[in-house]
Amino acid sequence: MDMSRTQTRTDCVFCKIAAGEIPAKILYRDEEVFAFPDINPITPVHILVLPVKHIASLADLLDKETPLLGKMVRAANQLAREQGIAKSGYRLTINSGPDAGQLVPHLHIHLMGGRHLDWKH
Ligand code: 5GP
Ligand code: ZN
Repeated sequence: MDMSRTQTRTDCVFCKIAAGEIPAKILYRDEEVFAFPDINPITPVHILVLPVKHIASLADLLDKETPLLGKMVRAANQLAREQGIAKSGYRLTINSGPDAGQLVPHLHIHLMGGRHLDWKH
């Protein structure tokens, strides 16, 4: 069995948050997607939006799993509205792999806003 594609991983901090084993303020949850504030926010609004299922990175997303990204973006857009930054603007970022600085190997979108964001750095 390919252990990288099991539903949850006991050694994954974000799977532990999904399971309620590590506390986080869950801001959104449905069957496939959940979201909570980043523990180390770099913007006034900084929320992580994730699949409940463990997918290590964007590079590990299977073609058949692509619709899940749309559901994550839908949740991020809803959260942006709820946080009052839909009009002022926000950024969605996915870091995939070492060069992008991905620290936690469980696919996640960073929803960032609430101040002007520099670009191209
Ligand atoms: P990455 O660099 O992998 O794209 O981002 C990982 C993010 O997860 C970081 O911004 C980091 O602050 C956040 N993070 C890491 N561990 C935890 C945690 O236990 N709880 C929460 N809420 N955020 C975490
Ligand atoms: Zn995980």
